[in-house]
Amino acid sequence: MTEHTDTPTHFIRQIIDKDLAEGKHGGKGEHIVTRFPPEPNGYLHIGHAKSIFLNFGLAEQYRGACTLRFDDTNPAKESEEYVASIKADVSWLGCQWAGEVRYASDYFDVIHACAVSLIRAGQAYVDSQTPEQIAANRGDFTHPGTDSPFRERSAEENLALFEAMRQGELDEGTAVLRAKIDMRAPNMNMRDPVLYRIRKVRHHQTGDTWCIYPMYDFTHPISDAIEGITHSLCTLEFEAHRPLYDWVLDKLEGLQSFPSRPRQYEFARLNLNYTVTSKRKLKLLVDEGHVQGWDDPRMPTISGLRRRGYTPAAIRRFCDMVGVARADSVVDMGMLESAIRDDLNQHAPRAMCVLRPLKLVIENWPAGEVAELEAPMHPQNEAMGTREIPMSGEVFIDREDFQEEANKKFKRLVLGDRVRLRYGYVVRATDVIRDDQGEIVEVRCTYDPDTLGKNPENDEGQGKLRGVIHWVSAAQGVPCEVRLYDRLFTAANPDREEAGFLSCMNPSSLQVLEGAVAEPSLAVAPAESRFQFEREGYFCVDRDSQPERPVFNLTVGLRESF
Ligand code: ATP
Ligand code: MG
Repeated sequence: MTEHTDTPTHFIRQIIDKDLAEGKHGGKGEHIVTRFPPEPNGYLHIGHAKSIFLNFGLAEQYRGACTLRFDDTNPAKESEEYVASIKADVSWLGCQWAGEVRYASDYFDVIHACAVSLIRAGQAYVDSQTPEQIAANRGDFTHPGTDSPFRERSAEENLALFEAMRQGELDEGTAVLRAKIDMRAPNMNMRDPVLYRIRKVRHHQTGDTWCIYPMYDFTHPISDAIEGITHSLCTLEFEAHRPLYDWVLDKLEGLQSFPSRPRQYEFARLNLNYTVTSKRKLKLLVDEGHVQGWDDPRMPTISGLRRRGYTPAAIRRFCDMVGVARADSVVDMGMLESAIRDDLNQHAPRAMCVLRPLKLVIENWPAGEVAELEAPMHPQNEAMGTREIPMSGEVFIDREDFQEEANKKFKRLVLGDRVRLRYGYVVRATDVIRDDQGEIVEVRCTYDPDTLGKNPENDEGQGKLRGVIHWVSAAQGVPCEVRLYDRLFTAANPDREEAGFLSCMNPSSLQVLEGAVAEPSLAVAPAESRFQFEREGYFCVDRDSQPERPVFNLTVGLRESF
């Protein structure tokens, strides 16, 4: 990850500073260890980016380490595809995990041993109630729970039953291992939470080795302790789970030895308006075909943002702007869009592409001649160099840049009046040609050969021009496909829609322009390269792009439009 000077401070940094000052993590030369712990049950989204930059960022700022650990305790919902996509996304964001990728499933032996030691110590028991009985006896916020009739089983009996669970001798749903805490605890998470359940499904990492799987709340503290995590950072919904996290580690003290005694700290989730950030909902969009996959450029996934043309730097900048706090809030999508706009305005080379072509025939252009005009790659950055743009007697301009009649406010081409073709000559529109339906199919004009390289807005001696428009030479231009994207939802808060989040999907979130024409240099631009199409917006080359048929995705418009 690149060094980063204006690192924002926040309450978690204050906690770490204090811990380091007190020598909490081994004194001199100590270092902090964080982790990013995704469950491989979907692709990462913009919310995860906040957690990624927080965890990897802290490790970088304090010269510590950050591990990448898959929390893979629910094999029925997980897959190798998700594992691969998550690794690719974290790497693409520029974050490097310490050592090998870890899996909670790497620790299943240790976690099992922890369970056995808790049983021996009388801190856990096998409950043979049905799932319905367990739910009913848990009570609720106003009623205490009721002890299971199996709560007082002896350690020997529990050990034998737990072993039977592990050997596959018991059916799913007939037994679970529970922590023996307090069925009357005000915090529901402490009412004898389930530690292990039977699931006779194949696991993407451990195959058929196990038919019992530990629960997240049991797995997480142990995995953190095994990896020597010092600061275990998670989102606020885990706050009420922290007492259980601490209970597990406290009870294991003296029974198991670990390199660290991790502490959990919670921060606010990132919520963005005009989209959803829940893997379950994103999966639904994919599964039901509302979008074209997890990396559809309209998705708030990391891979979707990447395909849309976002840069890792812009996503990181956005996360820095959002900050790390303990209060939940909804961030405006416009903030994410302005982060990428600022980045691309500075770094993206310029190019011309006509989205809705209208032919402009220059009647006094020398027959057959092709001129090479020079244009800067970037108006403020000379170091980016120049490019050559071919010009001939027939060019395309955008349909929206021509009107037969218009008042002075229309700063484009009007019949009888003049504009400059960007980086080229001044032309005057003289006539229009129509098809049978009366639609204008061609504009005729003349050009002034003396106007090249002059002040773009003026044409000395003849007064101010209406404006400057972009264009592409008809013979040399490359036909391309342009995909115009808009927000996926029309409501600021899709989750609050009474009829469900799918009810406010934007029907015009994707518009495909088949007939666009790009300047020839764009034909060879590799996938993911990004440009400002002058006067149109920022675009990137899609992975579907071919040299004979480039495909460009709209990343963001030139200006804020909402
Ligand atoms: P989702 O709710 O979208 O399904 P999740 O929390 O189940 O996400 P995990 O794979 O468990 O997804 O998340 C990995 C890490 O990313 C966790 O530490 C989680 O707290 C964090 N995280 C997930 N969503 C957000 C978010 N919107 N903002 C910040 N951090 C997040
Ligand atoms: Mg989760």
